[in-house]
Amino acid sequence: MTRRRRIYEGKAKVLFEGPEPGTLVQYFKDDATAFNNQKKGVITGKGVLNNRISEYLMSRLSEIGVPTHFMRRLNMREQLVREVEIIPIEVVVRNVAAGSLSQRFGIPEGTPLPRSIIEYYYKSDELNDPMVSEEHITAFGWAAPQDLDDMVALSLRVNDYLSGLFLGIGLKLVDFKLEFGRLWENEEMRIVLADEISPDNCRLWDVKTNEKLDKDRFRQDLGRVEEAYQEVARRLGILPEGGPSDVKGPKTIQ
Ligand code: UDP
Repeated sequence: MTRRRRIYEGKAKVLFEGPEPGTLVQYFKDDATAFNNQKKGVITGKGVLNNRISEYLMSRLSEIGVPTHFMRRLNMREQLVREVEIIPIEVVVRNVAAGSLSQRFGIPEGTPLPRSIIEYYYKSDELNDPMVSEEHITAFGWAAPQDLDDMVALSLRVNDYLSGLFLGIGLKLVDFKLEFGRLWENEEMRIVLADEISPDNCRLWDVKTNEKLDKDRFRQDLGRVEEAYQEVARRLGILPEGGPSDVKGPKTIQ
């Protein structure tokens, strides 16, 4: 981890300078945080699993024409991504009431929503990621109206595609968070999906039992957290050989 220049360290990932200009290496840690950093812990093997899960989901999305920053996985914990200018907005898509939506409106967890609901949060640890409206986003210049239109259209496509994909392996996509970035290519700018898609930022419930197979197991101290992430990877058919405990560090895979 000392070979490359560290560009940024977040709660669950580290970004390093990539091998070529315009690329970054995204390193997945086992660290977990919740409630804006108030709860901290380590989920052994999480980084390895999230690297695989996000690689898989980003690759499938790319195949259906959703542009993403993902280029390729480098090893157990690292992936090569395109350097983008991150838009400081978290886009949350919800299909079923849970988490902050249930709390805010007093809707019992598990209530199906009449239609998919999109929410925006301004990325700011100091401000505790406040919920914002389209008006705030465009008035404060965090994203242009056209950027926002693209983000919404992409988020809905991701929701449709991933809802079906997860349903096929017996999982309900309750809600998830996406981040987007601006990718500059020959003077042209495109909005692309960035960050990661994993049980750290999706709620995934077993269709039959409603068992939670995501970060809520950590947030709510439900136990068997790593097993839940492993189960998601297993159902996707991508459980790393050697298991998630094979965390000896970067080992380049062809
Ligand atoms: N989420 C996330 N990062 C955040 C906040 C939320 O990835 O900083 C995800 C979360 O995992 C869930 C969805 O966004 O899948 C909706 O989260 P919610 O607003 O209910 O907040 P929470 O209950 O997680 O605080």
